[in-house]
Amino acid sequence: MPVSLKRKIQRSTELQQRAERLFPGGVDSPVRAFRAVGGHPPFAVKGDGAYLWDADGNRYIDYFGSWGPMILGHAFPPVVDAIQQAAARSASFGASTPAEGDLAELVVEAYPSVEKLRFVSSGTEATMSAIRLARAFTGRDYVIKFEGCYHGHSDGLLVKAGSGVATFGIPGSAGVPNDVARYTLALPFNDISAVEAVFAEHRGEIACIILEPIVGNMGCVPPASGYLEALRKITREENALLIFDEVMTGFRVAYGGAQELYGIQPDMTTLGKIVGGGLPCGAFGARAEIMDMLAPLGPVYQAGTLSGNPLAMAAGIATVGYLKEHRTEVYARLESLSAAVADGVAAEAAKAGVPLTTNRVGAMFTWFFTQNHVTDFESASTSDTAAFAHFHNAMLDLGVWLPPSQYEAAFLSAAHSTDDVEITIAAARETFAAIVG
Ligand SMILES: *Cc1c(COP(=O)(O)O)cnc(C)c1O
Repeated sequence: MPVSLKRKIQRSTELQQRAERLFPGGVDSPVRAFRAVGGHPPFAVKGDGAYLWDADGNRYIDYFGSWGPMILGHAFPPVVDAIQQAAARSASFGASTPAEGDLAELVVEAYPSVEKLRFVSSGTEATMSAIRLARAFTGRDYVIKFEGCYHGHSDGLLVKAGSGVATFGIPGSAGVPNDVARYTLALPFNDISAVEAVFAEHRGEIACIILEPIVGNMGCVPPASGYLEALRKITREENALLIFDEVMTGFRVAYGGAQELYGIQPDMTTLGKIVGGGLPCGAFGARAEIMDMLAPLGPVYQAGTLSGNPLAMAAGIATVGYLKEHRTEVYARLESLSAAVADGVAAEAAKAGVPLTTNRVGAMFTWFFTQNHVTDFESASTSDTAAFAHFHNAMLDLGVWLPPSQYEAAFLSAAHSTDDVEITIAAARETFAAIVG
């Protein structure tokens, strides 16, 4: 049972003060700053299985898993061993290594739509490179993306939607030239008629559709029934490429990602997060005819000093190899524990009269503080973010670390236990009682 002790924050607060002198907002990636929820971001010093410890010695049950990679839990011994052994042989060569082929074979086997791939060092690089390749392959410039989908922080993919963006992209970030953003057509997710309308308007000009087949970056939003099929059909008819950005969903919702779960073969796939087992790694892949347009075989340039890095490959092979060998038990466990915690917390909200909509696909889920169905960015935006912030802070104080934004999916790992789930549900019960009371 959780005890309502206020967590200690002194050391993390000192570290935060130093960090704010050195890093904008005190962070290397914005959401870590806790601006959406307020409060004091704990400084992580250690992880083990489902738990994180901060610089003040507080222990948390972790529901963000480094934003997805830690599907087997923190410091999973086979992954730690693999990294240590690889490090002892040198952290980097800048030459081809056997491990790259080993991990690539695992990826190709798990993702039949991928015949060839390239490893890069982040999801951002994977999607950026995939778009360049799709443009070269089709000889077209326009890209369709969906409002609320995140594909990393390259210029053309940082376009937010709003009225008028179906025709002309508006930069979602300062510093992105309008001339770049105008080639990104941002449409509402789960609305096939919006896609049909844009194809009709830009016949022969659209290179690709890129999407998170299950969105995680506006909170968890699954595709409506028939939606992915309809995107597959229209891209085939219009000779545009369909890119599944599976940086989050790959090896998460199923071993073969969303494409295995829904039985849809995209033209290109991007991976990240789990594929690198917690080290910096991404990948993009497709059929050979597309991938062979890359240098040195073709005219599309793409490169990386640390691409296919030996430590990242070792961590990836250890993680993906374990998932492959134990896939039946691991994904069954992820499903049942995730259902237990997602539904258990939802039931406590219902009992307390707190409006909550729970979306979940496997071990990826979001509790939206709204009574509306959440099917796209507009409906996600009906959430009471102040209530979420309160919930987040109260849960943190009770030793449960959720992603610090209403618009981020939570993740469970194979290291979580039924006890962890019980403690989480009890913490939610206490929190909802305090919200209502
Ligand atoms: C995390 C994420 C990215 C970006 O990956 P980075 O490694 O952070 O650059 C891209 N697409 C999706 C779907 C993601 O979840």
